[in-house]
Amino acid sequence: MPTPEPGECPQALTTLPEPARAWREKVRDFCRRSVAPRARAMDVAGRLDEGLVKELFDEGLMGIEIPEVYGGSGGDLFQVVLAIEEIARHDPAAAVFVDVQNALVVSALLRHGSGDQKRRHLPRLAGGQVGAYAISEEHAGSDAFALETRAEQRDDGFVINGRKRWITSAAEAGLFLVFARTETGPPGAAPGLGAFLVDRDTSGLSIGEPVPKMGIRASSTCEVTFDGVRVDRGSLIGRPGDGGVLMVETLDIGKLGIAAQLVGLADGALTHALRHAEEREQFGTRIIDFQGVQFPLARTAAELEAARVLLYNTARLLQNGAPQAERIKATSMAKYIASAVAERAASQAVETLGGAGFAGEHPVEKLYRDAKIGSIYEGTSNVQFKTIASLLTRRRDGTGARPDREHPRNDSEFRKG
Ligand SMILES: Cc1cc2nc3c(=O)[nH]c(=O)nc-3n(C[C@H](O)[C@H](O)[C@H](O)COP(=O)(O)OP(=O)(O)OC[C@H]3O[C@@H](n4cnc5c(N)ncnc54)[C@H](O)[C@@H]3O)c2cc1C
Repeated sequence: MPTPEPGECPQALTTLPEPARAWREKVRDFCRRSVAPRARAMDVAGRLDEGLVKELFDEGLMGIEIPEVYGGSGGDLFQVVLAIEEIARHDPAAAVFVDVQNALVVSALLRHGSGDQKRRHLPRLAGGQVGAYAISEEHAGSDAFALETRAEQRDDGFVINGRKRWITSAAEAGLFLVFARTETGPPGAAPGLGAFLVDRDTSGLSIGEPVPKMGIRASSTCEVTFDGVRVDRGSLIGRPGDGGVLMVETLDIGKLGIAAQLVGLADGALTHALRHAEEREQFGTRIIDFQGVQFPLARTAAELEAARVLLYNTARLLQNGAPQAERIKATSMAKYIASAVAERAASQAVETLGGAGFAGEHPVEKLYRDAKIGSIYEGTSNVQFKTIASLLTRRRDGTGARPDREHPRNDSEFRKG
């Protein structure tokens, strides 16, 4: 970092350069127009508005990092973070829809896909096709590497059998990035996974009804069953056995996206709480004049700032290619902190609004329900602690092991984040 000249103010990490600021303003405007007015109705309906889905594609928000030559926005990872954050201020359900598309599916293809796979899939993903990312199964939640879905190799490709659960955007998805076991061996062994690109209309693939949920209700979450699903060799990203590494690396960006969703949610909650506290009068004065109302909001503001700095710092680490162990630790920390801050911010917002916050009509009631998923998906908070702790102890265990020089391929501590 260059030393500032005397009298020159050093830039804060949260002071965005002009292109990023312009992008954030564009997304912010879009969210005011198109996301905020639909959020409540979509939550009640339990599904995303088709008009909004179309607009998200038209605005370039579903292919942010996809190069313009493939019809995308040609943006960067920081823009993905800013977009998810802005959308989540109004609707965390729409934000996770954008997150899975950009931070998991597109990101995996861009960073690990072959030229053919990029040419085939990226234009579709930029132009209207929704992507979903499928790891979890009945016996493979936190222990993602225990997944049992199998991909048996045949002369002309693979045959996939198994059942995935909790798959975000499955109701809308046209393309599934599916993790399956490509080698025989006991479940739980890290090697032997493959990552497959499977079209929705492939024979043998079926999608269950969306499960009812406490929050992010407009985001679909479904079981996806693979019953003798035949895919060609070109559907496999990398080689058989590369799936474990791909999973760890894509989930890093996934965790960053979820941290962005939760920072946005906390910001939305604080904004609502402040607005209400400045308008509502009791005992002959605005309630914001009471210290008892000010202090919790001050705490929320301080925690939000800390979570956002951590988020942006983590985004920069990932964007600038920091060593793997540093990235993994940073994304686990950012996701854990953001989830805790979002839960507290949403809870405080409900209390600040009193009865109006508890009633179903106000956005903070929804934000409170939406916040809970943050400490569960893409690795529970305990899984984040496990990851962080493993990196701390490896630095201190006297073996001389340097996490940034090692590969997590066979390390169960790097399991699903
Ligand atoms: C709304 C929603 C959307 C989702 N979207 C997707 C998706 O798109 N794709 C996908 O593949 N998956 C998805 N998931 C799955 C999600 O990632 C898992 O739910 C999550 O990883 C936790 O797994 P689990 O639910 O099986 O809980 P479990 O793993 O059974 O955990 C239960 C509890 O045990 C704790 N625990 C488990 N192991 C340990 C340990 N070693 N040490 C300490 N504590 C531990 C956990 O922290 C948790 O508190 C989604 C889930 C939900 C609810």
